[in-house]
Amino acid sequence: MTVWRVPLASLVLHEDDLAAVVETYRSGWLTMGPRTEEFESDFARYVGARHAVAVSSGTAALHLMCVAAGIGPGDEVIVPSLTFVATVNAVVYAGASPIFADIASLKEPWLSAEAVEAAITPSTRAVLAMPYGGHAGEIETLAALCARRRLTLLEDAAHAAGSRLHGRHLGTFGAVGAFSLFSNKNLAVGEGGIVVTDDDNLAATIRALRSHGMTTLTWDRHRGHAASYDVVRVGYNYRLDEPRSTLAAMRLRRLDAENAQRARLDERYRELLEPLNLIVTMPAIDGLAPSHHLVTVVLPDSVDRERVRAHLAGEGIQTSVHYPPVHLTAAHLRPDADLPVTEEYARRALTLPLYPHLSDGEQDTVVNALTAAVSYDQVSD
Ligand SMILES: *Cc1c(COP(=O)(O)O)cnc(C)c1O
Repeated sequence: MTVWRVPLASLVLHEDDLAAVVETYRSGWLTMGPRTEEFESDFARYVGARHAVAVSSGTAALHLMCVAAGIGPGDEVIVPSLTFVATVNAVVYAGASPIFADIASLKEPWLSAEAVEAAITPSTRAVLAMPYGGHAGEIETLAALCARRRLTLLEDAAHAAGSRLHGRHLGTFGAVGAFSLFSNKNLAVGEGGIVVTDDDNLAATIRALRSHGMTTLTWDRHRGHAASYDVVRVGYNYRLDEPRSTLAAMRLRRLDAENAQRARLDERYRELLEPLNLIVTMPAIDGLAPSHHLVTVVLPDSVDRERVRAHLAGEGIQTSVHYPPVHLTAAHLRPDADLPVTEEYARRALTLPLYPHLSDGEQDTVVNALTAAVSYDQVSD
């Protein structure tokens, strides 16, 4: 295993997180129960949604979101190609067809509302937006477009834990939102996800589908609240367990403080990168307090991104590309899709290390190595 001097992401658990998890194990009740319920009500309050349903992964959250929203065979769902593949897989799990739309610009790597509108057909049922890096992107325009064209707006809010636009949490702009608790996310426990909605019926469907479509839970029966159950739909086992619910609730209390540390580092990256001829993506906009999940730059066209990445790796700095376009993967191949901005972005973009406890010294190391790599490439052209 490579030990990076500066990894892309890093998670530090506090002693009281660990103590709370140990206490949960000592309680003897490990599958979904009171701590999951407590985390759900904490998270619902945190994002300002009526309901939060904890599940086993962000991908499970996306799947249940699509199924509960009534998406199925014959439906088209407009998605970005510049996203993690799970966004698109979820549409396919539900039996629908993903239709890829382009991003707004190299500096604004999220769904373009104009491109979405152009992709609408009589079969379009929903738009599945992904707040890239935790930025709101064009979510308000998309919400207005969906209302006007009677489409369902869904959000893959995996990057957006703690992101608010005019005080409203991202993931609550559509009918349903899906969050991830994966290791490298802002609110991380390893594996886990959360579905949020204000709709009582959708929440009830999501709760049932999460646990085999059953009408009662093991926890209800353990407490003597129910003796048996019916199965009302063919559901899944997408439950989150108690230890991870405990950890999620503990870490949720620190999320705003950790996102503030990310905000300071994001600002500092922008200052330090100013002299370089780069596009630093995701500009600040009025009223937006983002999660700062990612800091991503677009290198000059003349620069060989893979050489830059190799140079940084040689200095012990891990980087990434968010994302290889989904429409160019073997599983979802659509080489005919007209997504020129997505393709150019995916060729030139580079994600830099960012985590709350990244030190100024580590950040300087990243910027110095990037400066050397980019200058070398430009001089040698
Ligand atoms: C992480 C991520 C997911 C998947 O979440 P998991 O919890 O890993 O299943 C989906 N979409 C996006 C945009 C993500 O970043």
